[in-house]
Amino acid sequence: MRHAILSDVHGNLEALEAVLEDARQQGARRLLCLGDFVGYGPDPNACVETLRPQLSAALVGNHDLAALGRLDARRFNLFARAALEWTREQLSATVRAYLERLKPREEFEGVLLVHASPQDPVAEYILDWETADDNFRAAEFSLCLFGHTHVPVRFAHDGHRTYVFPLPVNTPVRLEAGFRHLVNVGSVGQPRDGDPRAAYVLWDSEEATVELRRVPYPVEAVQVKMQRKGLPRPLWERLAEGR
Ligand code: ZN
Repeated sequence: MRHAILSDVHGNLEALEAVLEDARQQGARRLLCLGDFVGYGPDPNACVETLRPQLSAALVGNHDLAALGRLDARRFNLFARAALEWTREQLSATVRAYLERLKPREEFEGVLLVHASPQDPVAEYILDWETADDNFRAAEFSLCLFGHTHVPVRFAHDGHRTYVFPLPVNTPVRLEAGFRHLVNVGSVGQPRDGDPRAAYVLWDSEEATVELRRVPYPVEAVQVKMQRKGLPRPLWERLAEGR
């Protein structure tokens, strides 16, 4: 069965709608979200309301927690903090109540889902080989899907060593038997790998494959909204560059 794994939507409704349409066309039967529904983007409530009824599993991310006032906003940089303060004012009571119920770590059909990392599901950034290696040793899982860094990548561990693999775009990759895997699904709403297109991963549980999908969306429409809502300029400028 094909699952669409979304993460780091960050209030970007145009990117989310483009991803949902692509996931439908690709035959995804289930939708999972690894957290950071809100923060940065101009449509926090609409993103949560759109996703919530469709999700088979959902996690809370560090930006969601900060917008709820459950994580210190001083841990974020100036612009992220300004967006979080704006987001906190926008959140509806139902959206708040929904996000409050979510955890940053869940098991889903034998797969570990975390927002950030297995050993620190809220905060740690797995951006390099060493941090991935630490996590393979710190937790038991055969497949872990994660977000948080906004950079899609795959790490594999054979019991002795950890290997890093890029995720090719729109091409399924087999999760080799005998290896454990950590797969970062990228970010729907604020990619940071130099490609401005929205990112998500299709995971096929029978075929044991993952496929990084990149989906274009109207970036300028989101930038105009962010400008109108008074969100900091560097936050809407970066969307065009995917950084
Ligand atoms: Zn994020």
